[in-house]
Amino acid sequence: MNYKQLSQKDKHYLWHPFTQQHEWIKDPDVTIITRGKGTHLYDAKGRKYLDGVSSLWCNVHGHRVPEIDRAIQKQLKKIAHSTLLGASNEPAILLAEKIIQLAPQGLTRVFYSDSGSEANEIAAKMAFQYWKQVKPARPKKNLFLTVREGYHGDTLGSVSLGGIGLFHGIFGPMLFKTLKVKSPHDYPSRKGSNENWLRDCVQDAEKVFRKYGSRLAAVHMEPLMEGAGGMLAHPWGYLKAIRKLCDRHDVLLILDEVATGFGRTGTMFACEQEGVRPDLLCLAKNLTGGYLPVAATLATEKVYRAFLGSFGSLRTFYHGHTFTGNQLGCVAALANLELMEVKGFLEGIKEKSRMMEEFLEPLVAHPHVSDVRLRGMMGGIELVKNKRTNTPYPYEAKMGYRVCAEAKERGVLMRPLGNVVVLMPPLGISKKNLAYLIEVISKSIESATR
Ligand SMILES: *Cc1c(COP(=O)(O)O)cnc(C)c1O
Repeated sequence: MNYKQLSQKDKHYLWHPFTQQHEWIKDPDVTIITRGKGTHLYDAKGRKYLDGVSSLWCNVHGHRVPEIDRAIQKQLKKIAHSTLLGASNEPAILLAEKIIQLAPQGLTRVFYSDSGSEANEIAAKMAFQYWKQVKPARPKKNLFLTVREGYHGDTLGSVSLGGIGLFHGIFGPMLFKTLKVKSPHDYPSRKGSNENWLRDCVQDAEKVFRKYGSRLAAVHMEPLMEGAGGMLAHPWGYLKAIRKLCDRHDVLLILDEVATGFGRTGTMFACEQEGVRPDLLCLAKNLTGGYLPVAATLATEKVYRAFLGSFGSLRTFYHGHTFTGNQLGCVAALANLELMEVKGFLEGIKEKSRMMEEFLEPLVAHPHVSDVRLRGMMGGIELVKNKRTNTPYPYEAKMGYRVCAEAKERGVLMRPLGNVVVLMPPLGISKKNLAYLIEVISKSIESATR
């Protein structure tokens, strides 16, 4: 079907996520992707783009990766899907083994679902039920401590755990209450030494633990950097300090590595950089290399054991989704993870992270750039209207979108978070394409803010 017909039908039938449809249907040039190859996308008008946002933070080795394509084709000749409720399947079994081999020590069990939101809900439900069933039971431990500006997905449980006013505010009355610490990003001391910044953040967390420690079921947070909240970095040592507080007060630590997991920040998992092992770990996005929706919640044996008992004990985790453990998704994930184990993959990420630091951090000198925040190949460039008075661009100015529109003109697809230009290239991007992406980002900021 040609571009015009597709565009008409799109505007007639579809409702896009995180999109003001009123503006979308007026846009004469909506992008309609028809195919991909490597880290490039092609649209219905025949244009070619660099996939600058990793197809929403999940693409790893590019598109039409021969190894992943072959794995899915081979599996298709056997079966596409059967249930994990009351039965099992080979891809789900082998993928669970592979994930546990890669995961931080102590995590021993894999519970599948289909999206990052679900992986987070599952972790929270597990933590909640755990304290009711652990021996001796501690049913009063039913509160969750979360970080402001955190993002754990868009279903109601994960929205309750999150804290982004713009996305979550309106749903307030529908949510369960959580305790929140200030985002580390909101401390003035972040502009100074890591030591002072860390001290300020940890002092506030300690206060909450002192007051509510005995009531806390878990801390639920993103490690190193809050992603969708605007790429808000944490001080080094913060995660480790939170783990210590959890240990001291007998609180579970749930880490949401949906965005940071599988190499994004330069190590297989971000928590490795702080030597931290979570009790529950949420994974999705990169897991299938950006091919199919598979998510996983990992648990320690300690958590898992609290759910064991006779059939009649009702200690079962009563949770599951139709497509949990889907074979096509699991073989895609297996092929993706095998490619990650090829020598040089993580080294390549480190090298490309250094490239991003070298060429993007100097942008902070730009009169409309207030901050450049990077953790590995993940980060953001924050734009301001007036740097001296630290006045942001008003929301309606759509400055982030304007930068992305400029980038599209130059053959790069990106998606901003408010006034933050998001840096999330596919991990397997070539250095040549990364250099081009960096150049386009600089030029696009220059022309949009001029
Ligand atoms: C994207 C994201 C989620 C939600 O994942 P979905 O698959 O979109 O439901 C949760 N947590 C973090 C940190 C994310 O970046």
